[in-house]
Amino acid sequence: MSEHGKTPVTVLGLGAMGTALVEALLAAGHPVTAWNRTASWAEAVAAQGASVASTISEALAANTIVIACLLDYDSVHEVLDPVAAELEGRQLINLTNGTPGQAREMSAWAEGLGAAYLDGGIMAVPPMIGTPAAFIFYSGSGTVFGHARTALDTFGGVNYLGADPGLAPLHDIALLSGMYGYFVGVIQAYALVGSAGVKAREFAPLLRGWLDAMGGFLERSAEQIDDGDYVTDVVSNIGMQAAAYPNLAQAAEDQGISAELLTPLQSLMDKRVARGHGAEDLIGVIELLKK
Ligand code: NDP
Repeated sequence: MSEHGKTPVTVLGLGAMGTALVEALLAAGHPVTAWNRTASWAEAVAAQGASVASTISEALAANTIVIACLLDYDSVHEVLDPVAAELEGRQLINLTNGTPGQAREMSAWAEGLGAAYLDGGIMAVPPMIGTPAAFIFYSGSGTVFGHARTALDTFGGVNYLGADPGLAPLHDIALLSGMYGYFVGVIQAYALVGSAGVKAREFAPLLRGWLDAMGGFLERSAEQIDDGDYVTDVVSNIGMQAAAYPNLAQAAEDQGISAELLTPLQSLMDKRVARGHGAEDLIGVIELLKK
């Protein structure tokens, strides 16, 4: 940390997210050196006070803490591989979206070069960065997390998950999985009512109310999973649900709507019932996902 409690940081990548990160750092008074493959994208942050590095070597030399926010892990390697030797002594914080396996590989690669590594999973869209609505999962080097903490706090809430660099992307992708599952249902529901001329706006309050009510089962499901008990307190057993579920696909087909978003769950439910778990809770399907 420099004097006055400010942390000088290098940011690689000035896309929508990288630019938002730089703006949050600058707004909090942290000195930023920014680099982007397409140099013209640096003009906006330069006007706000960032130093612009014209080469990646210059960017790495400027600061110990280096935040990468590029398209994907391949692009991070594409940028850093040619200057790998210059990573020695750096503290690399990779906020690029990726998988746990990619994070662990990059961590081992960086550490092999003498750099410390912290991975991050951003749970926000760019306009949320710098507001309390944003939060970022971190995992990997606790030393880097501690050293960079005042800078990282400018992005939003932080959640440090431990030394395994794969944990941040794991949690990130788990939340995204929940989100996409939610969107699958929402898209299907709007398509179905829309096929009968019901406006989405008109249906939205009903859908919201129903999903909010269903959300109340989340913690109960967690208890069942942790206890491995899908039998106790079953109010809607999977046998009954597996019998009714085909109506979802049939109704869709009858209305001229594809049922392709719905079908994977049917086969899992049927398999669970066929294996003798018909009187248990739907959430027991999780057992079939474990390979
Ligand atoms: P953008 O598409 O806006 O920007 C992509 C950035 O990656 C640009 O700086 C681009 O440089 C750079 N880039 C791409 N390929 C290469 C390459 N081969 N070599 C060097 N630089 C490259 O994406 P975002 O900024 O929105 O996203 C950045 C990361 O943040 C992604 O991993 C994304 O998944 C993650 N993220 C984004 C969110 C969002 O809502 N935007 C939300 C949460 C995470 P150039 O300008 O030269 O093309």
